[in-house]
Amino acid sequence: MSEVWDVVVIGAGPAGLRASAVAAKAGARVMCIDKLGPGGLMMNFGEIHDAPPEAAGQTGPDFIAALLDQATEAGVEMGFGEVTALNGGATWSVIGDETQTARAVIVASGLSHGTLGLPEEERYQGQGISHCAVCDGPLYAGQSVVVVGDQGWAVQEARELAGMVGSVTVIADSAPSLPNVTAMPGRIIALDGDNGLQGLVIERGGQTMRLETSALFPYVGRKPACGFVEAERDAAGALVVGADGATSAPGLFAAGDVRAGAPETIAQALADAEKAGKAAAAWAAAHR
Ligand SMILES: Cc1cc2nc3c(=O)[nH]c(=O)nc-3n(C[C@H](O)[C@H](O)[C@H](O)COP(=O)(O)OP(=O)(O)OC[C@H]3O[C@@H](n4cnc5c(N)ncnc54)[C@H](O)[C@@H]3O)c2cc1C
Repeated sequence: MSEVWDVVVIGAGPAGLRASAVAAKAGARVMCIDKLGPGGLMMNFGEIHDAPPEAAGQTGPDFIAALLDQATEAGVEMGFGEVTALNGGATWSVIGDETQTARAVIVASGLSHGTLGLPEEERYQGQGISHCAVCDGPLYAGQSVVVVGDQGWAVQEARELAGMVGSVTVIADSAPSLPNVTAMPGRIIALDGDNGLQGLVIERGGQTMRLETSALFPYVGRKPACGFVEAERDAAGALVVGADGATSAPGLFAAGDVRAGAPETIAQALADAEKAGKAAAAWAAAHR
């Protein structure tokens, strides 16, 4: 029979890396799998804002490197691949390119990139649509770009971009007060450009207008990345958990942005992970 892990963790963002380290330090044999490699969203950050004390003054990649060191020093085995299905029973089958078997599973798969829901959106991915201000902002030095989304982190991205590009338009009621940033209320209803993105059509109060832009940074419509999980969810599709991170399925735990009610901060992802890591290790020890 193939190896049975005590705990398999799906996702190696801050929640997954911390949960893996905590479970391993509690005595569990742990594998942590990510479809992109360790890091999650934070690999796209420059300096972390509103950072928890242990990440103060660090960039996203620096902090991820520290979390990865802690996990591997605790004995966590890192795996690479996309998990596409989970089957429960006496043990869990974690199915992707390879199948792993585990006594307990922690889902820490975060949120997927959102979409505007426009038919032509796919065509401009990497051709003017970007989800990473720090990585792609410098490509648009001196040019006009658009950010859409009025959540706090979208506003933060607009600030980052303001230091790298010519001007930033935020499609929202308000925007950071910076000389090259303006707010434009409205809704994007179309994208155009023959050779990469060149403009957007905005609808406002029944009127439409075209806005020239070299790039669009969308931070809207992000959804819990847990389509492969069968357990109780909230209306947004996030996994409902108890105080220790346990979902409605026995031996299945969730931590970080993927769980219902997550405030979408690194500090809370780490705090969730502490609880879920301990609880999953205890579950595995009780079911050996
Ligand atoms: C633009 C932006 C800026 C932000 N800035 C800050 C900030 O300055 N300070 C702060 O506190 N918070 C910030 N946040 C929020 C913070 O990044 C998140 O709360 C945090 O990253 C959540 O961690 P997580 O581990 O739950 O998820 P993530 O960091 O999203 O990690 C999830 C991981 O799961 C992997 N994964 C997903 N599905 C699968 C699958 N099926 N199989 C295998 N692997 C999978 C992904 O590849 C990813 O690596 C920001 C968010 C955004 C969008």
